[in-house]
Amino acid sequence: MSGIIIKTKEEIELIRESALIVSRTLGMLASEIKPGISTLKLDGLAYEFIKDQGAEPGFLGLYNFPNTLCMSPNAQVVHGIPNNTSLVEGDIISIDCGAFKNGYYGDHAYTFAVGEIDTEKEKLLRITKESLYEGIKSFQLNNRIGDLGYAIQYCCEKQGYGVVRELVGHGLGETMHEAPEVPNYGKRGRGKKFLNGMVLAIEPMINMGTHRIKQLKDGWTILTADGKPSAHFEHNVALVDDKPELLSTFEYIYKALDITSEEELPYRSHPLVL
Ligand code: MG
Ligand code: MG
Repeated sequence: MSGIIIKTKEEIELIRESALIVSRTLGMLASEIKPGISTLKLDGLAYEFIKDQGAEPGFLGLYNFPNTLCMSPNAQVVHGIPNNTSLVEGDIISIDCGAFKNGYYGDHAYTFAVGEIDTEKEKLLRITKESLYEGIKSFQLNNRIGDLGYAIQYCCEKQGYGVVRELVGHGLGETMHEAPEVPNYGKRGRGKKFLNGMVLAIEPMINMGTHRIKQLKDGWTILTADGKPSAHFEHNVALVDDKPELLSTFEYIYKALDITSEEELPYRSHPLVL
């Protein structure tokens, strides 16, 4: 990774456009996720949906990834490859999606419940998402990368969860993965300072048990070393006028699932028009 690229407000709006294509795609998928559907079927729906919005799937072919979505059920952490296995009631499934339009990428993720899930998994999803917003809250002018990582780590480790070390968030723009690396752990006051015009993909990957991971022989799929479930939530956020501004939204998902949430309101300078 080279140096951090500061974006203009115009560039940030282009990243927002790509991010919202991903947001709408995840919203579309939210209505389709149910027991019996395969991850490959969902992948095909996402491909068509992204193309219909005049964008390109951001992951397809990136580092030779074979599909549109990274789909990582249960003990899979991230980078799972869609296949013909059907989702089962009680599963959780992390879906990570990228889109590329007008020269800029959007990239975010949500972990969905398949039907009814047990209370332990429900808590893992809730805390992981909470930790994402703790990270966003600390993306403030003159704070540092270590502050953001610390906020996420503190939120998750006090619940006894494992924070994955090997995979991190990142800068986002004309390339999917730009500087800086954004770890989900860290020490307060350490690392690069946040500046206006920085755009980050903040993405806690949190395991119910150990933080340790392993990789399948497919060269992609990351899973927990102890076989316990893992969750992953990701937003795209810009630092604008000294404040973190959400470029992505989960509101399309919440609309599909009939959920009311005010979690995004502090990070939105304009009302969101769905
Ligand atoms: Mg992602
Ligand atoms: Mg990412």
